[in-house]
Amino acid sequence: MARYGFVTSLIDPFGRKIEYLRLSVTDRCDLRCFYCMPEGFKDFEEPAHWLTFDEIERVVGVMQEMGLARVRITGGEPLVRKDVDQLARRLKQGAGIADLSLSTNATRLARHARALREGGVDRLNISLDTLRPERFKDITQGRLDKVMDGILTAKAEGFAPIKINMVAMKGVNDDEIGDMLEFCVEHGFTLRLIETMPMGDTGRSATDHYLDLQAVKKQLAERFELLPTLDGSIDGGLIYGGGPARYMRVAGTQTHIGFITPISQHFCETCNRVRLSVDGTLYMCLGQEHNYPLRDLLRRGIPDDELKEALIAAIALKPERHEFREQPTKIVRFMSMTGG
Ligand code: SAM
Ligand code: SF4
Repeated sequence: MARYGFVTSLIDPFGRKIEYLRLSVTDRCDLRCFYCMPEGFKDFEEPAHWLTFDEIERVVGVMQEMGLARVRITGGEPLVRKDVDQLARRLKQGAGIADLSLSTNATRLARHARALREGGVDRLNISLDTLRPERFKDITQGRLDKVMDGILTAKAEGFAPIKINMVAMKGVNDDEIGDMLEFCVEHGFTLRLIETMPMGDTGRSATDHYLDLQAVKKQLAERFELLPTLDGSIDGGLIYGGGPARYMRVAGTQTHIGFITPISQHFCETCNRVRLSVDGTLYMCLGQEHNYPLRDLLRRGIPDDELKEALIAAIALKPERHEFREQPTKIVRFMSMTGG
């Protein structure tokens, strides 16, 4: 094990620098997307097991000293957790995180957009799989009008760019991808298409709807002129560096479309992230079980230098790649547990 004192940054055994944390602040959600949350789902964890904001700020602050630069607040639905805007402020100002973003289903965004912006959230990713109310209800059990209200409020509050995440599914919403891109062009949003991943039974049920995004790209090219970007990123990697999406630009607009293809074309060799679940377990990979529990250490009052050693030991566990394709039945965690 690399000892703190010799190694002070988070570099895994494959030489990848870990500078991005997905932070799950709750495993609860007010929607039930069929590929994510099981129906009749009861909360996984008691809040007593959840990391407090003090504990989260501490871990993130120590990781920031070791090179962490970006945090995405996620869940479950992060806006279900009380006072998330205050956590955002603490991560930005207290823990010194330069790039703070949040993933949301937008059902509560109209209420929270301003406070999040004032709290220091730089960027938003919003999940939206369809523009049709009936279909939205079928996929999520929720109401599209609330989500649209949230999206347009966030736009009015000045969040830019807003990225729309669409899980692209055969026989579910594959006939709407062109319309979704049109919607994004109209509003100046970025669209990201995501392949379904076999996370938990719900995720595996969705793999029946697996859609190869390489083919979608060809279809879209019949309706839109799609221009390649220099290196697959929006901006030469300046703001969005290291992300899994490979972007193209819609000619004559500022709209980009990104393809996130964990199954058809995995991107593990450039993976720069780990995930902290709400119960304080650090997961090394979305598609593997390697993890390191931090909560008890924090509650026992571990000093900073030992916490750094623990983090280095954790990162040493990071596996080379996921095995979604080879072992699709492997991951029993739902996406909402680890933080998508
Ligand atoms: N509730 C927030 C939201 O929906 O944006 C944040 C958490 S959600 C788990 C994060 C992302 O994971 C969403 O974009 C969602 O579509 C995606 N997701 C959930 N289950 C998935 C699966 N089985 N395959 C691919 N993406 C999935
Ligand atoms: Fe909730 Fe997001 Fe999962 Fe949908 S994808 S059920 S909104 S956590």
